[in-house]
Amino acid sequence: MSWACTNCGHEANDKESPQCLACGEFRMAIRVVFSGATGETMAMQITTQLGNASLRRIAGDEVQYASSPQCEIVKDETAGCWLLRHANSATNPTFLNGKLVDEATKITTRSVLTIGLEKMPLTITLEY
Ligand SMILES: [Zn+2]
Repeated sequence: MSWACTNCGHEANDKESPQCLACGEFRMAIRVVFSGATGETMAMQITTQLGNASLRRIAGDEVQYASSPQCEIVKDETAGCWLLRHANSATNPTFLNGKLVDEATKITTRSVLTIGLEKMPLTITLEY
């Protein structure tokens, strides 16, 4: 199955690619899937707050470093992408791909979220 671009109408885009071959526009992922140390996964289709309680099943013991809430996954319909936002009340900093999340940061597939530089690594996959 190919997909049609909402920006330019190009219809023969590769199912495996999030980017339109004709105009370069990215399409919006339907789901954001987190996987962690336990091997379990958690999928989100709407804007969702993440914290100690909700991440326990996928993150394992290192979830102790996460606050409630720790961060938020934001579905930005206007920009056509998913964003990661750190919760200002959280004790420890949120990192994405080794970079401090101090403003809303675009999520790309196979990004890695951590608490600080290395605790509680969660791999993020975008599904289209
Ligand atoms: Zn296009």
